[in-house]
Amino acid sequence: MKLSYSKIRTYRTCQTEYWLSYILGIRRSEDEDRFRIGTNWHDLQAHVTPLPLNEQLAAAIETLDKAYNVEHIPEHLMEKFAVEYRKLLHSYLAWSEYWKEDNKRYGIYVLPEQRIEVKYPPALHLIGVVDLIPEDKKGKLWVREYKTTSEDIADGSDYWKNVQRDIQTPIYVILARAAGFDVQGVQYDVFRKPQIKPKKPVKKDLSGEGTQISYLGVTVTPDDFSAELETPVMFGIRLQQHIMEKPEYYFARKEIPCTQADIDRAWRTIQNTAKQIKYVMKNHLWVDDPQRCLEYGKCQYWSICSNNIDPEKELPIGFERK
Ligand code: SF4
Repeated sequence: MKLSYSKIRTYRTCQTEYWLSYILGIRRSEDEDRFRIGTNWHDLQAHVTPLPLNEQLAAAIETLDKAYNVEHIPEHLMEKFAVEYRKLLHSYLAWSEYWKEDNKRYGIYVLPEQRIEVKYPPALHLIGVVDLIPEDKKGKLWVREYKTTSEDIADGSDYWKNVQRDIQTPIYVILARAAGFDVQGVQYDVFRKPQIKPKKPVKKDLSGEGTQISYLGVTVTPDDFSAELETPVMFGIRLQQHIMEKPEYYFARKEIPCTQADIDRAWRTIQNTAKQIKYVMKNHLWVDDPQRCLEYGKCQYWSICSNNIDPEKELPIGFERK
């Protein structure tokens, strides 16, 4: 059996979700906001962060232009995606500025985007992708994992307690070591997604006249200047300044070391999960836990489960089989 961290996590969260996703291969036809933002944030980190600072702005724009290709965006989503584009761009610029000094402490190995597979006899395969390995000044190696969340990421928060307990750290260590990097653990780089939205501009924030006009001190166009509601460009300017006023609220970075005991515990969990999945699959014993459906925002399969649809016979609009 082949298992990845996300397969294990999905099974432990809701067996029905595992069945729908990994056995029946059912997906939403369009990415949900939270998955799209997470994926695009990860793309920015993978393609832009390894570049010199003076090349990052152009590369970030290029990466987001590809992700939000206007030719593929339906008319009714244009405005929403334009705001999301700016949210990611300016959050990334704030992130890059905030971690500028810390980033100098590391050399970064960029691994080719390929799946690593580790065999555990007799028939278990752990699979996953590790793409960035920072090396600190003392020569210690880590796996860099970028995460996005809506939760509190302050020191001592439940978020970090959960990260400490999770088997993601030993799983990444196992994978990185199999790829030839003797890592100490995982360096989590977390971005708390901003909840602020475009608002009516405050007069005192607009200044200048003619072509010399600005919003919060940054040059804008006459169209931006006269808009009732902040345009995506203006929103991005305000967002970046807002993040830089309290960056610790939005960004956190922590190294979680991994011991041999953590690795042994992870393998036990992986083995036990594999045995359970095999048994449940063979006997078709998938169960669900309705407490999970709305726990972290609405589950992507909510409209299937809440309407008692048999997904082997039909699918609601907005879903497809892969
Ligand atoms: S909607 Fe609820 S029961 Fe259905 S897959 Fe999601 S979490 Fe599981």
